[in-house]
Amino acid sequence: MASSIVLFGPPGAGKGTQAGNIVAITGKPQVSTGDMLRAALAAGTALGHEAKGYMESGQLVPDEVIIGLIEERLTQSDASDGVLFDGFPRTIAQAEALSEIADVSVVIAIEVPDSRIVARICGRYTCANCDAVYHDTFNPTQTSGICDHCGHSEMKRRADDNEETVRTRLAAYHAQTAPLADWYRHRDLFVAVDGDQDIDKVSQLISAVL
Ligand code: ADP
Ligand code: AMP
Repeated sequence: MASSIVLFGPPGAGKGTQAGNIVAITGKPQVSTGDMLRAALAAGTALGHEAKGYMESGQLVPDEVIIGLIEERLTQSDASDGVLFDGFPRTIAQAEALSEIADVSVVIAIEVPDSRIVARICGRYTCANCDAVYHDTFNPTQTSGICDHCGHSEMKRRADDNEETVRTRLAAYHAQTAPLADWYRHRDLFVAVDGDQDIDKVSQLISAVL
C-alpha cells in the first residue's frame, strides 16, 4: 500500500499554508476535508446541506460523513501513491477508519499555542481563484488584493473565520482531535514541529522531516 502523510494541528496552525510545499516535495495530492466540504456547500449538494450547520457553528461534521468522503476520494487515480491529508483525521474513529484503508507513514503536527490562533484565523483570506492562503498582517499579498501565485484580483474570507466560531473550533480540537496525538505517538508516527515562527522557518522544519 502506498504511504500517505497526515498534516495535523489546531485550526489556523498553518496546515493549508504548508501543504503546497509538501505537495511540491512529495508529489502527493493534498486532500483537505475542509476544502471538500466547502466545495460541496458551494455546489449545493446533499453533503453540503448536511455539513453546513456543523461548519457554521464550528463543530465537527459526523464521522460517518467524513469517512465516506475520504473512502470515495481515495478511489480516485491520483491517490494511488498516497496523499497528503490536511484536516483529517480529526477523531480517533476517523483515524481507526483511515488505518483500514490507507497506510500512514508520518503525522506532522504543527504546534501553535491557542493564544495565537484567533489572530491567525480572523486575519485569514484566500485567493478566490487558486485558494492560496494569506493573512492581513502575517502574510499579505505583495500587491494589495492581487494573488501572488495566479494574479487573480478577488479574495475571499471564510464565513466560519470569526472569533466566536474559532472558540468553538478550538474547543472541538482539544476535546476530539488533540487525543489523536497520543494515538499516533503510540504507533511511532508522530513528529511535532514548532509552528509558532515564520512561515519559511516552519517550511524548513517540515522539509527536514520529509
Ligand atoms: P490551517 O490550514 O491549519 O487552518 P492556514 O494555513 O489557513 O491554517 O493558516 C491560518 C492563517 O495563519 C492564514 O491566514 C495564514 O496566512 C496564517 N499563517 C500560517 N502560518 C503562519 C505562520 N507561521 N506565522 C503567521 N501566520 C501564519
Ligand atoms: P477546516 O477547513 O479544516 O478548518 O475545516 C472547516 C470545518 O469543516 C470544520 O470546522 C468542521 O466543521 C469541518 N471539517 C473539516 N474536516 C473535518 C473532519 N476531518 N472531521 C469533522 N469535521 C471536519
